[in-house]
Amino acid sequence: MSHYDVVIIGTGAGGGTLAYRLAASGKRILLLERGDYVRREKDNWSSRAVNVDAKYHTREVWQDKHGKPLHPHTNYYVGGNTKFYGAALFRLRKQDFGEIVHHGGISPTWPISYDDLEAYYAQAEYLYQVHGERGVDPTEPPASAPYRFPAVQHEPRIQQLHDDLARCGLRPFHVPLGIMLDEAHPRASKCIRCDTCDGFPCLMHAKSDAQVICVDPALEHPNVTLLTNARVTRLVTSASGREVTCVVMERDGAEERVSGDIVVASCGAINSAALLLRSATDKHPHGLANRSGVVGRHYMGHINSVLLAISRTPNPTVFQKTLAVNDFYFGDAGFPFPMGHISFVGKLDAVALSAGAPAIVPGMTLDLMAKHSLDFWLTSEDLPDPDNRVSLDGRGNIVLSYMPNNVEGHKRLIAKLEHLLQHLDMHPHLVPRNLFVGTRIPLAGVAHQNGTIRFGRDPGTSALDPNCKAHDLDNLYVVDGSFFPSSGAVNPALTIMANALRVGDHLLERLGARASAALQATQ
Ligand SMILES: Cc1cc2nc3c(=O)[nH]c(=O)nc-3n(C[C@H](O)[C@H](O)[C@H](O)COP(=O)(O)OP(=O)(O)OC[C@H]3O[C@@H](n4cnc5c(N)ncnc54)[C@H](O)[C@@H]3O)c2cc1C
Ligand code: SF4
Repeated sequence: MSHYDVVIIGTGAGGGTLAYRLAASGKRILLLERGDYVRREKDNWSSRAVNVDAKYHTREVWQDKHGKPLHPHTNYYVGGNTKFYGAALFRLRKQDFGEIVHHGGISPTWPISYDDLEAYYAQAEYLYQVHGERGVDPTEPPASAPYRFPAVQHEPRIQQLHDDLARCGLRPFHVPLGIMLDEAHPRASKCIRCDTCDGFPCLMHAKSDAQVICVDPALEHPNVTLLTNARVTRLVTSASGREVTCVVMERDGAEERVSGDIVVASCGAINSAALLLRSATDKHPHGLANRSGVVGRHYMGHINSVLLAISRTPNPTVFQKTLAVNDFYFGDAGFPFPMGHISFVGKLDAVALSAGAPAIVPGMTLDLMAKHSLDFWLTSEDLPDPDNRVSLDGRGNIVLSYMPNNVEGHKRLIAKLEHLLQHLDMHPHLVPRNLFVGTRIPLAGVAHQNGTIRFGRDPGTSALDPNCKAHDLDNLYVVDGSFFPSSGAVNPALTIMANALRVGDHLLERLGARASAALQATQ
């Protein structure tokens, strides 16, 4: 059985970033990834292949709490879901690390503060080449460094919306984006600013995803190895139950085993929880690292909606995801509870609409709708409910039980946006009845999954300590989105990346290693 200093399971935002941080240390690092590289092919940018045929989604079938089949919208590839993400790289707000009273309950405190993570946010933004502008987002937390690159400019229709919203007294701002766009030198720019970014892999390798930014550079170090198509099925522990002694995987239909001084699960919040639950033993009868009983519980995924506002003005925007509004993030005078975050999805076309996202407006073709719609993305915080959970059926398959909570703030957020837009140029003649068509993202939309292996100071109520080490084991860590005790209402990836850098520093210290080269690359 081959032995490594560190075995990292999963190569997404958490695992990929951690590998990058550790790579220059000289320690022997093994990355295990159940998927392969995303094949570079024309279908990468085909709306039909991506949105209708779901070509890149896993074919794995989970179940909901009623035992109904659930086809998760998730992707197993080198780079994880960052290969497909919209690269909106937000920091959580400073207040999100403390307790916040919501209409539907309490969002709990984190065991670390915003200040503990701030330097790592700055490093993650630098590493992932975030383009943004400080000082405009009204809820923006303090930052120790400017963005490395200027904000991605709005196209004219979005600039017009920006100006209209600003006239209404709001403070719209540029979405911080991890795309390698050089607007000052378009011919040299790696990114060509196309309309197939959010939800699509980038054919140009110009999106700052975990493969391009972290895994590929990490593999340039001779001490780092990646095994693809290596699905980890179980972690085996020592007789005492205190150490993971063996990582069992399935590769090309055969079982293989490796071991590591340190083992890190970063399979995404649902799969990491499932892996720990599948690794139950006499010493860990309810699953590995689960003395507290919280593993798999407190699943969160945000309350997300897509809202199409059909406007008289055509919307020929190519890259739409440049504008966001956080004025209602913590509520307003009429509703003193958090409502959430307003932004955009990538520009939807008729093919994407045919995949069934929103209801069809009577009397309009999908093409006409798509040509006139502003395609908003609204995110509100869902709260950690122990009954919203990942569990396993008798055959070890994933069961995802979820009951939405804290929905009032989300409804208010939708109403706020609709009210605002009514006063702009939405046209009642083009669309006789439904000015707005919206859809709540269903349970299968697990893009923002988090919270299932929460970190905390109390081993009775959390599975991981503040360094993301399992309370119950000496050498097991988790660095994907599982560790969140609460989810805030902005996209999660930058927080996962920043935390992976933080845990990376802890591991370097624990291993007695230095990673000056990796540090330089993030400063
Ligand atoms: C369409 C889409 C758009 C998104 N847009 C944004 C956005 O704009 N901004 C943002 O912040 N977030 C966005 N997200 C969410 C973001 O991608 C995730 O939050 C992030 O990738 C989660 O990181 P992770 O490390 O927890 O998991 P992942 O990135 O999912 O990585 C987990 C990895 O583990 C592998 N794996 C799973 N099980 C096993 C196993 N048993 N053995 C071996 N390997 C395994 C998987 O194949 C995968 O590579 C989006 C997601 C999607 C799907
Ligand atoms: S070229 Fe730019 S806009 Fe298009 S997918 Fe790549 S990163 Fe996104």
